[in-house]
Amino acid sequence: MKTDELREKYLSFFESKGHVRKPSDVLVPTWDPSVLFTPAGMNQFKDHFLGKVKLEFTRATTCQKCLRTGDIDNVGRTAYHHTFFEMLGNFSFGDYFKRDAIHWAWEFLTSKKWLGLPADRLTVTVYLDDDEAAGIWGNDIGLSSDRIERMGEDDNFWPAGAPSSGPDGVCGPCSEIFYHPEQGKSVEIWNLVFTQFNRVGAPPNNLRPLPSKNIDTGMGLERTASVLQGVETNYHIDILKPIVLAAAEVCGQSYDPQAEVGRRLRRITDHVRACTLAIHENVYPGNKEEKYVIRRLLRRAVLDGRLMGMSEPFLYRLVPVVAEMMRVPYPELGGTADRVASVIKKEEENFLGTVDAGLNHIDRIFGDMQSQERSVVRGEDAARLYTTYGVPPELFEQMAAERNLTFDWPGFRQDMAKHGDVSGGDQFVIFKTGPIEALKRALHQTQFLGYDSLEASAEVKGIVAADHLCDELSEIGHASPVTIVLDRSPFYGESGGQVGDVGEIVGEGFRFEVTDTQKDGDLLLHIGHLRSGKLRAATKVTARVDPQRRQEIRRAHSATHLLHYALQKNLGGHAQQQGSKVDADWLRFDFTNLSPVTAEQLAAIETDVQARVADGASVQWQYVPLAEARKAGAMMLFGEKYPDPVRMVSMGAFSRELCGGTHLSNTAEVESFEIVQEEGVSAGTRRITALTGVKAREHADQVRKTLDEAARELGVGAFDVPAAVRNLATRVRDLKKAATSGQAVGAAESAPATGNATPTYAQVRGALREAARLLNVALLDVPSRVQALRQEAVQLQQQLERLAAAGTISAQSLLDGATTIAGARVIIAEVPNANSNLMRQLIDQLRQQTDSIAVLLAAGQDDGKVTLVAGLTKDLIAKGASAGKWVGAVAPVVGGGGGGKPDMAQAGGKDASQLPAALAEAKRAIESMLQSPTAPRTT
Ligand code: ATP
Ligand code: MG
Repeated sequence: MKTDELREKYLSFFESKGHVRKPSDVLVPTWDPSVLFTPAGMNQFKDHFLGKVKLEFTRATTCQKCLRTGDIDNVGRTAYHHTFFEMLGNFSFGDYFKRDAIHWAWEFLTSKKWLGLPADRLTVTVYLDDDEAAGIWGNDIGLSSDRIERMGEDDNFWPAGAPSSGPDGVCGPCSEIFYHPEQGKSVEIWNLVFTQFNRVGAPPNNLRPLPSKNIDTGMGLERTASVLQGVETNYHIDILKPIVLAAAEVCGQSYDPQAEVGRRLRRITDHVRACTLAIHENVYPGNKEEKYVIRRLLRRAVLDGRLMGMSEPFLYRLVPVVAEMMRVPYPELGGTADRVASVIKKEEENFLGTVDAGLNHIDRIFGDMQSQERSVVRGEDAARLYTTYGVPPELFEQMAAERNLTFDWPGFRQDMAKHGDVSGGDQFVIFKTGPIEALKRALHQTQFLGYDSLEASAEVKGIVAADHLCDELSEIGHASPVTIVLDRSPFYGESGGQVGDVGEIVGEGFRFEVTDTQKDGDLLLHIGHLRSGKLRAATKVTARVDPQRRQEIRRAHSATHLLHYALQKNLGGHAQQQGSKVDADWLRFDFTNLSPVTAEQLAAIETDVQARVADGASVQWQYVPLAEARKAGAMMLFGEKYPDPVRMVSMGAFSRELCGGTHLSNTAEVESFEIVQEEGVSAGTRRITALTGVKAREHADQVRKTLDEAARELGVGAFDVPAAVRNLATRVRDLKKAATSGQAVGAAESAPATGNATPTYAQVRGALREAARLLNVALLDVPSRVQALRQEAVQLQQQLERLAAAGTISAQSLLDGATTIAGARVIIAEVPNANSNLMRQLIDQLRQQTDSIAVLLAAGQDDGKVTLVAGLTKDLIAKGASAGKWVGAVAPVVGGGGGGKPDMAQAGGKDASQLPAALAEAKRAIESMLQSPTAPRTT
């Protein structure tokens, strides 16, 4: 099928499904400040998706001109990437959703009436927990489960990684459709995006369903055409191959797809097509933004031509071919072809005028670098190349990378700024220019040796300090860590949940301490500090992993597989891994389970792991084809992207997992294993934390010691700690009750002794856990809590004893000592040691026994403080007396204050020595209140 026919079929298919056919938006959307070039079909509908414009239609279909600068390095190298390409798309604005989008995509691809692709050559991916999409592909379309792969947010979410790292706003899972040709690489042809959420803030629970859900799909026109035409690369389809061949002709070459010449001709094809389309829209080559992109593309193509021997402009001669190939969808190109060609020719002439001198200069720089043993292209050299010879820095970097030399981007930008470039070379951040990106282009990968060895000789390929690539590092103890990249390394870079290795890199006269190892693409980044000497790029070094820590990590990682196995065995096949972290003798494992794991289940899981450790099963790993691993029953984790072949780690005959981590050679080397915690992390996901080896043993020792300490504190045997804790807790509770109610408690109950046989570790831990549960504290906090409770009990006991002494004063004896004032009975008395509760109780009793009674009780406390409580019967209140005013009048005598309601009031004072005076004042005060009741006082 011809490409033009495919484009038309797509648009008319979706018209037949009620879509409005809309024209392509421009390639350079000056209306949209957020992008330089249109990156996808949805770009022109952003406001429709956000509900910002009035919708005149709710379904649309387009073929959109796109340009992606991010794919520039792929051009010529991969079979399926362009800078400029066309994207077919269908869109729903709050109209149809997943089901229709998937059904129609499948119908269009496989129906004989439309593309008629063989269904068995198609597979799909869906987002991790998008059961809805997986269900439609599985149940409605009938794809078997091995053809529906679940991938994480970096692959199957739009925007990529949005759930974890944002941005906030409209987002959603997506589903990609892949074609697997009989020969050659699989290719993603179509991406269906289901925008169904509004992201608000960080996880968890940050994805809110949108009231109106949208569909946004993108199908690569050239990729699908190459599939339909059965060619091995997009560049060989009907609308591109003629440009490739025309380029070969104007350059006087014959096109050999596999050779360097082939790559150059494909790059020329891509770049001249992109530039033709952009210049058609009046975007001319220049120094900024989209204009700079066009300049860079043109100069790269010219350089390719120059390196094939061209010394005269040639690119412009391809413009008519491009216009012809794109004539059907974009007939307007024919009208501007002459203008476009002359713009391109001018740029070619300019660059060809300086490029030879530039290339000579570059050769000299490379020569100097070699003789001076430098591997980083200096920023100042690159800036000079650009300003004097017009060689874009990206081209220079590319040439350096071909010689395994790296490029100092920050240095380049600094130098541009120094020489008066106002933007400081900021325009160059359009392309990826970080030091690690530069290293990747020069080195591509670090060979990982750490499965077999912990020490290896290697060569320093990159030194990154303060975000600069540098040739030499001599500053000891750089404030921020330095990154070293080697050509090969035994250091494991953090991945798959396993932490990075630590260790050292040493060589003649220097030592670099590695405190962490990370992975970036296929590069291993050794992060740390220079501890002595001087480190230079391109020198030979020995890289040495800390063997002890590595062993601790291996124990934890192998134990993680044992735990995964035991979880599946005890809880069921649903208990799949959701996430894991493997550190030195420490592991954390998240898995699916609706309810908390019971203590019995947990014990059984732990016992199973321990049994597998005791068995001493051998641990083996090998690379196998993905399909074979699947057949062998290897656990495949949702969200993991597996390479093919994959590394399969087996333990005995019971565990098979696809894993890139470092493992023991025998499960017995785990030595010890203990689960220390089980908790929930989110709905349906539980987390287990466990220890192995040294940490597990140390933990067990600590548990034993802790229980012993608690036993000593309680004066019982270890076995009896929980019972004693229970007694202690009950006793403290009773004492507290007694202290408030004034009632006595019985003597402390002593826990029954259960003998002193030596307990097993399981019993020790069980006893401590039970004690911790009773006390509601962490395991290791049991002794301190016991101690605190015992102190509390002693204090309460003393308080109660004082109360008991005060309790000898009875209501009756107080009544016996009452005097009568103005017809009311008045009691003013000291009740030593009584607390306020007791005083209130006494007053209540007295009020119940008789009407017309006023009582004020005072008690000095141990600490010299004084408590006063007064109470009156209602009839006295009616006569104008008030308990509140009464204590209020007395309290100042003992240096205090207070008050309260008319019927009962309390005050405190600081000076017990003034108690007699206070009691005298109490008498005077109540007399004056009772003798001149409601009437105004007369003197
Ligand atoms: P890839 O991972 O292969 O680069 P992608 O995930 O970036 O693709 P999307 O952003 O989903 O692709 O774009 C939708 C479709 O557009 C893809 O399925 C593919 O068919 C096509 N496409 C994307 N980038 C390019 C490109 N640089 N050249 C040609 N076609 C492309
Ligand atoms: Mg891409």
